[in-house]
Amino acid sequence: MAGSAPAIGIDLGTTFSAIARIDEAGRASTLVNRDGDLLTPSVVLIDGDDVVVGKEALKAISTEADRVADCVKRSVGLPFYERTVDSRQYPPEVLQAVILRQLVNDASRLVGRAIEHAVITVPAYFDETRRKSTQDAGYIAGIQVLDIINEPTAAAIAFGYQVGLVEAAANAEQDGTGDASPKETSAPAQTVLVYDLGGGTFDVTIMRIEGNQFITLATDGDVELGGRDFDTRIMEYAAKQFHATHGRDPREDSAAKGRLWRECEEAKRTLSARKEAVFVCEYGGQALRISISRDKFYELTADLLDRTRFTVRQALQAAKLELDQVDRVLMVGGSTRIPAVADVLTKQFGRAPEVCLAADEAIAHGAALRAKQILDRAAGKPRSFSIRNVNSHSLGIVATERQTGHKRSAILIPRNTPLPAKVKRTFKTAKDGQTSVLAPIVEGESPSAEHCTPIGTCEIRDLPEDLPAGSPVEVAFRYAANGRLDVTVELPGTGVQAAQEIHRPNGRSQDELDEWRAWVDQRMPR
Ligand code: ADP
Ligand code: MG
Repeated sequence: MAGSAPAIGIDLGTTFSAIARIDEAGRASTLVNRDGDLLTPSVVLIDGDDVVVGKEALKAISTEADRVADCVKRSVGLPFYERTVDSRQYPPEVLQAVILRQLVNDASRLVGRAIEHAVITVPAYFDETRRKSTQDAGYIAGIQVLDIINEPTAAAIAFGYQVGLVEAAANAEQDGTGDASPKETSAPAQTVLVYDLGGGTFDVTIMRIEGNQFITLATDGDVELGGRDFDTRIMEYAAKQFHATHGRDPREDSAAKGRLWRECEEAKRTLSARKEAVFVCEYGGQALRISISRDKFYELTADLLDRTRFTVRQALQAAKLELDQVDRVLMVGGSTRIPAVADVLTKQFGRAPEVCLAADEAIAHGAALRAKQILDRAAGKPRSFSIRNVNSHSLGIVATERQTGHKRSAILIPRNTPLPAKVKRTFKTAKDGQTSVLAPIVEGESPSAEHCTPIGTCEIRDLPEDLPAGSPVEVAFRYAANGRLDVTVELPGTGVQAAQEIHRPNGRSQDELDEWRAWVDQRMPR
């Protein structure tokens, strides 16, 4: 790793992405894209061999929606993006890679050298499969992914720097007196609840900031709740009125639907500033003027905010905390600009929430600070802060119940366990000379395996051929600090020990990854 490589952090959001770096003075700053904007819409337009990302791709939703992919992050973990783009099916990793490549290409022009390494953020609530998929997207984009860190952790780090919690450590570092472990600072410990309502996902994370240590206590969330859902409610409202007047639903045509969405998203933003928004819905040569009040909007979306309140309560329970034990509530994510969000939080906590100064940039800044920390460590410098994470989903192994034949998930590592975490399980071979053992692994909270998310099957192969039935096979499951899983197997007493591959039903082979990497290279040269 080049010592002078820039420390780059990427917030790969559902609707908007940002890229930041740490400058010579050690400050995080967002790198504007080639349009001069801090945020790049996470939207991809594919037109033959032309790949366009950002503002222009977003515009194309109104005219050539079939060539546009948006909200790709919601498909991450699935084999393919939800619909074809320019008549072709794409794995979500590829579309995410295209966005990453655009961010990095734009940023390279500003930095004056090719960017090869970066830290990428993921929602805390992302499961292992989605984390792996995000790393694969980085690979396809030609980026060496230094780490994936949780978005709320990144926001908390940026916030910690902003309010001076981490400063004492940074000073110690400059004195050259720091050692390998982070220094204690005099700032009092704080319990911070990070409430991140973005475009497509909702995350709650409760963190303890003790000087320069960021310790996650619990995390919860909803990968199916974000600004998009608020837009959809306005779209339903408008489409119903249009149908009542003109007898047709503009959502039946993809371009008309795209236009309507853009109008509704704009109206939603207007309602954050004004009491009423007006827009025109056009379809099939007919038009209707729609007006919506802030109160109506709140009425249409009250249940969405209720869901966030419920998730907040659950996260507090998991952290074994009462509402009044939270010192600060930190709002991140574009959708927290909806005034009702702060109102709901104020009611829930009895005190107003706070915002990061750079609400849209905090996550990318935190990621860049993490990148700096990793690069520093590689160069033998002391760490300025430390992070401790938890797993957001329980890890289980699938066993078939003898009597009923039901597939049950036996939990190995319960969720919200501090990471890294490792457990060992001993399996016994059933027959003489058995050379393999299968261990299907899942993530989720349900005891029924079918309601959990399959990660894949760990197939322990090549056991020695002379094992008698009942021989113990010890399998160690380990979550790394970033929530990624690895499995090793050991035959007690034989010295046989090996890392095992997990066969992932929706995973990509190395060949596939390399093919797509070449595909991106060709269309978006550095
Ligand atoms: P993500 O990281 O998931 O892409 P962001 O945190 O960037 O999301 O937030 C994007 C969401 O915030 C979008 O749904 C957007 O419509 C919404 N948003 C941005 N500004 C406002 C605003 N002023 N009022 C209401 N919603 C907003
Ligand atoms: Mg976000």
